[in-house]
Amino acid sequence: MCGIIGTILSTRNAAEKIMLGLFAEQHRGQESCGMAVSDGKSLQLRKEMGLVKEVFPQAILDTLPGFAGVGHVRYPTRGKNCESNSQPHLIKLLSGPSFAVASNGDIVNYKSRRKLLEDDNVFFESDNDGELLAKFIAYYIVRRNNSPEIAIAELIRNVRGAFSTVFLTRDQLYAFRDPWGIRPVSFGRINGKGWVVASESCSLDILGAKSQREIEPGEIVIFESYNKCKTIRYTDFGEAVEPQSRRHCIFELIYFARPDSYEFGEYVWNVQKQIGSSLAKDDKEINPDLVISIPDSSNFMALGYADFKKIGFDIGLLRNHYVGRTFLKPEQRIRDEAVRQKFNPLKGYFKGKKIVVVDDSIVRGTTVRKIVRAIKKTGAKEIHLRIGSPPVKFPCYYGIDTPTREELVANQKNLEELREFIGANSLKYLSMENLKSCVKHPENFCQACFNGDYILEPEAGFSKCNK
Ligand code: 5GP
Ligand code: SF4
Ligand code: MG
Repeated sequence: MCGIIGTILSTRNAAEKIMLGLFAEQHRGQESCGMAVSDGKSLQLRKEMGLVKEVFPQAILDTLPGFAGVGHVRYPTRGKNCESNSQPHLIKLLSGPSFAVASNGDIVNYKSRRKLLEDDNVFFESDNDGELLAKFIAYYIVRRNNSPEIAIAELIRNVRGAFSTVFLTRDQLYAFRDPWGIRPVSFGRINGKGWVVASESCSLDILGAKSQREIEPGEIVIFESYNKCKTIRYTDFGEAVEPQSRRHCIFELIYFARPDSYEFGEYVWNVQKQIGSSLAKDDKEINPDLVISIPDSSNFMALGYADFKKIGFDIGLLRNHYVGRTFLKPEQRIRDEAVRQKFNPLKGYFKGKKIVVVDDSIVRGTTVRKIVRAIKKTGAKEIHLRIGSPPVKFPCYYGIDTPTREELVANQKNLEELREFIGANSLKYLSMENLKSCVKHPENFCQACFNGDYILEPEAGFSKCNK
């Protein structure tokens, strides 16, 4: 999972805007970040491991003058966690065009598309999907003598998987999306000053851009200058790009996106609140004294639950915001320790109480197991665990780092075994039916990690993250 930004402005401070936009998307990737900026003559790239504010202090931004650029924050899902796999990818040809690509999503036919290019003497420096997209477009422009829009249309037709992508030339910005619209991306207008493309609308907000709309599945939007833009839809290519039915990632709304973003035609906070009330609606037999979230990812679900039950929403766990990602750590022992460092229950708060704990998802079971045990130690009478999504039983091939099938705890234990493993008095998941009722158009969503219904199967040899 990653976050992308693209901008084209009337002023030469694109780097600063990209930094701010990426900072608002830091939750989408914390391992590395980067940007490529154009001053109209050439493109400059800077990318490093680390957080946005560490990699891009003002002194560095000052060395990146330009009116247009693309940026990226990375959370590795495919390919090793290292600088060469970070984005954007810059292609500089000795004579001819230069361009940069930043993309979010995983490509399921990466291997065969890469081989196709390698067989024609295209060289790769990383094992990152973004580089494949950059080289694919470069190949169609340089070797096949096509315009960027035709090269991108070829890509949309040939490359299978999730890609919400920004593409920068010396003087133009392009944004495009796979025909299923799996990952989010929308664009906005900074009045009289330029355009911004972003994975999430919270980035448009921080940049003072008025959101226009999402990039449509299979669409290419060309930002020709700070005040001109045109769009090419799949229908304009005739048979080149088939329209597909939408498959937006429902897990974005459950866990990944920031609650202040508007994605796939939904307010993220609103979907999460509805999930909470849906859990409460099915919980007639329980009258808790307290409802708490596991901050921050289930805050709005717990609020929705508490609202429905007409009881107070409480903060019972303190989160240390300086602990990095617990989820991505390579070993179970390290993940356990990271969760322990991250959350601490209030003392003298739960004693003798009947508590509902709401979390958004169970993947390996690490987080809830540690938390339920820690709360129990402080003297809670009963702990009822409610999960704002169905059991995660299938890995994601489109850009979320769910582990292999075997590592998913819902495949190892039945509900009762899992309840016991976690140590809760009761455990309930959101049903598929209830999840569907929380979005306006459930038929437009991918739910494969819950039901195994994949729109695109990965080709043989597809490998997930190699940390
Ligand atoms: P578990 O601890 O069961 O392995 O993972 C579930 C917890 O991790 C939940 O609290 C959820 O908020 C969070 N989570 C779910 N999916 C992801 C993900 O893709 N990345 C990260 N970093 N956290 C996740
Ligand atoms: Fe999202 Fe799950 Fe589909 Fe992956 S499999 S795109 S996480 S809904
Ligand atoms: Mg969480």
